[in-house]
Amino acid sequence: MSKVLIIGAGGVGNVVAKKCAQNPDVFTHIELASRTKSKCDDIAKQVKDLYNIEIKTHAVDADNVPELVELLNEIKPFMVINVALPYQDLTIMDACLEANVHYMDTANYEPKDDAHFEYSWQWAYQDKFKEKGLMALLGCGFDPGVTNIFCAYAQKHMYDTIKTIDILDCNAGDHGHPFATNFNPEINIREVTQVVRHWKNGEWIETPPVMDDNCVHFTFDYPEAGPRESYMLYHEEMESLVKNIKGLERIRFWMTFGQPYITHLKVLENVGMTRIDEVDFNGCKIVPLQFLKALLPDPGSLGHNYTGKAVIGCVFDGEKGGEQQKKYIYNVCDHAECFKEVQAQAVSYTTGVPAMIGAMMMVKGIWSGAGVWNVEQLDPDAFMDELNRCGLPWQVVDFDGELPA
Ligand code: NDP
Repeated sequence: MSKVLIIGAGGVGNVVAKKCAQNPDVFTHIELASRTKSKCDDIAKQVKDLYNIEIKTHAVDADNVPELVELLNEIKPFMVINVALPYQDLTIMDACLEANVHYMDTANYEPKDDAHFEYSWQWAYQDKFKEKGLMALLGCGFDPGVTNIFCAYAQKHMYDTIKTIDILDCNAGDHGHPFATNFNPEINIREVTQVVRHWKNGEWIETPPVMDDNCVHFTFDYPEAGPRESYMLYHEEMESLVKNIKGLERIRFWMTFGQPYITHLKVLENVGMTRIDEVDFNGCKIVPLQFLKALLPDPGSLGHNYTGKAVIGCVFDGEKGGEQQKKYIYNVCDHAECFKEVQAQAVSYTTGVPAMIGAMMMVKGIWSGAGVWNVEQLDPDAFMDELNRCGLPWQVVDFDGELPA
């Protein structure tokens, strides 16, 4: 039905390529490009062995717009699935506009020299995409992505008004390393070391970062994973959800961390290893966080002996027909099962599967429209069905647990 170009051949790119190959009636031609072509070739070989499907591969520097435009003009894909790094979002959007190609990603733009992410830079492309009659779909991984879809589904089917949303992200898996991150270490550590924000009654409230002794945390009893310490964190989907979920009074995001992870992060921060500015080292300039990334395990390689589950979902409190109701929508994903299917751990899997489904919605024309979209602005029903079919089944239950006031 359509040709897609995946950009990025890391942990998530591997999953997207394989899940697209599992749906050859939708993705009739798959091409894969990244900075290091050998990584694309490696994925293409696995896809050929597993599904007998050919993927064409390319080297591209996605920071370079003319290089991207040349590649897009050569391939002429229907859309780009951007699973490179957030730093490349704007250059890839620029190239898509120039080459008349639809766009999708899983993480919002952040500048390299400022550990700060927000949608304003990408929302500013609204008119340009509208004028070209092209669609740009932002944040279609799990969180952001599926969490936004859960909210859209709750708004459409379960509530007249949603008053509060708590997004709870638990990784109860064990990869056997003393310290590793489940997606790109640089992006992950930049996110986790930030000042925390949540939204209440129309304003953003700041609280200390996760490594601070005064950070906000509590124990949540996760389905299948059990009680886990969950830390309040700022996460990008809240920025669009406060605009798109009507009547919302409060939204918070929580993520589980083990004590060893927090201790490592505290030490790394204290000794300056999480710095993102250049320092002199033996006459060279190095960025400590980029050097640290080079030492840490590649997230794509963590899958081998990874055991345990990832449990991500949303707790809603609101009203339907004048009655208060509390509901919990969640998915449970098993690391070892993901590895068996696509040789990836659950964090890459839970990101790559929704990215493929988002692309499927666009290719099939179920989601269409010129402009820049966050996923909760689109109809959630077909996407929710595909989650069940494609390996991320979800459940809705009445919620009778406790959350902090
Ligand atoms: P990885 O670091 O494993 O992979 C990133 C890939 O992008 C690598 O192949 C890398 O190439 C490539 N890349 C980096 N810079 C460039 C460039 N300038 N030009 C071309 N290719 C480039 O990251 P992940 O796979 O773990 O994550 C991918 C994306 O998914 C990230 O944006 C991340 O934030 C997002 N994500 C979203 C989640 C969600 O739920 N929404 C959850 C987890 C991740 P090279 O190998 O040469 O370095």
